[in-house]
Amino acid sequence: MIAPGSTIGILGGGQLGRMLAIAAAQLGYRCHAFDPNPDSGAAEVCAQFTCASWFDRNVLGLFAAACDVVTFEFENVPAGPLATIPPGKLWPPVKALEVAQDRLQEKSFAENCGGRPAAYAAVDSPEDLLRAIERVGAPGVLKTRREGYDGKGQWRIASAREAEGLRLPGSDLIYEGFVNFTAEFSVILVRAADGEVRFWDSPGNVHTGGILTTSTLPAPPVVVAQVPAARALAGRIAEALDYVGVMTCEFFATEAGPVFNEMAPRVHNSGHWTIEGAETSQFENHVRAICGLPLGDTRTTAPRVQMENLIGRDVERAGAILAEPGAHLHLYGKAEAREGRKMGHVTRIGR
Ligand code: AMP
Repeated sequence: MIAPGSTIGILGGGQLGRMLAIAAAQLGYRCHAFDPNPDSGAAEVCAQFTCASWFDRNVLGLFAAACDVVTFEFENVPAGPLATIPPGKLWPPVKALEVAQDRLQEKSFAENCGGRPAAYAAVDSPEDLLRAIERVGAPGVLKTRREGYDGKGQWRIASAREAEGLRLPGSDLIYEGFVNFTAEFSVILVRAADGEVRFWDSPGNVHTGGILTTSTLPAPPVVVAQVPAARALAGRIAEALDYVGVMTCEFFATEAGPVFNEMAPRVHNSGHWTIEGAETSQFENHVRAICGLPLGDTRTTAPRVQMENLIGRDVERAGAILAEPGAHLHLYGKAEAREGRKMGHVTRIGR
C-alpha cells in the first residue's frame, strides 16, 4: 500500500491531472506533475512540477525516483521512455497505454477479448483506401491510427468516388465503416491490483463534431439494455491487460448490440459526473486503486445527473451557471478560450 502522505507522479498536466490531484489531496497525498508544456492546469494544484520532454529519460528517471507511484492522465505519453520507471511503480500498465495509442491494435485487442468494433482496415496508401472502402463499404471515417483526440485526425468519406480525389494526410491510418448508432455510451470501471472490478452507471454520451458535449444519467433504455454486454467486454479487456486504475470503453448502441469504439486507459471526460453524482468519483477511485487502498462505492447518488462540457466560448456562461441551483461548476484554469478547447464542465444534479 502507498500510504497517505506519499507522492503520486502524474504524467500529463491537463485537466484530468488537475482533478486527479485534487482528489489525491483529499486523501492526504501529494502530487508531482510531469508535462513538456509549461502551461499546465495540473501543475497549479500539484506540490511539484517537472517540465521536460517526454523523451528526456534522465529527467523522467529523476521524476520517477521522487515519486512513490506514477500514473498518467494523457494517453499519448510516448511509451518507450516509460521503461525508465521501475515495474510495479507505474499504473495502469504500459501495455494498456500501448494498446490504446494505436486504433488498429486497440480494435484487434477488443476483438480478441470477444468485442465487436466497426468494420475496419489499415490504410497506408491511396490504393489501400480504395481497397478498404471496397471491403468495408461507404460511408466511413478515415482516422489517424495515433494521436487523434476530440475528433482531430478524422475525416468522413461519403463514397469511393470522393476517396479517389483525396490526398491522404500521411500513412498509418485506419478506415472504419460508419456506424448507424442509436446512442453512444461509455463503460467506466475501476480495477484493483487484486482483480476486484467496480463499474459506475453508464451515461449516454452526445458528441458534436467528435467532441463530447454531454454525459447524461439515466441513459436511454437502449443503452441500459446493452450495458451488461459492454461491461462484460470492458471487464475482459481490463483483465487481459492486468489493469489497475480507472479505465473507460466507449460504445455505439446499435440495433445489433454494442459496437466497441475505443478505450481510454485513464480517467475519462464521460466520468466527470462522478465527482458530484456518485458516492466515489472516478478520480478518487483511480487514486485508491493505484495506491492499493480499498475501492470506494461507485453508486450513483441522484436520480438525474448531467455533465455538460464548456467548450471554447461556452465558458462565458460560467457566471450564469454559478447562479443555478444544483449546478456544480469546474473551470480548468485555461487562459485562452480557443474554439474546440475544453475550458471546464458543469454537472447538474436533479432530484
Ligand atoms: P473517436 O475519437 O473515435 O471516439 O470519435 C469521436 C466521435 O466521432 C465518436 O464518439 C462518434 O460520435 C464519431 N465517430 C467516430 N467513429 C465513428 C464511426 N465509425 N461511425 C460513426 N461515428 C463515428
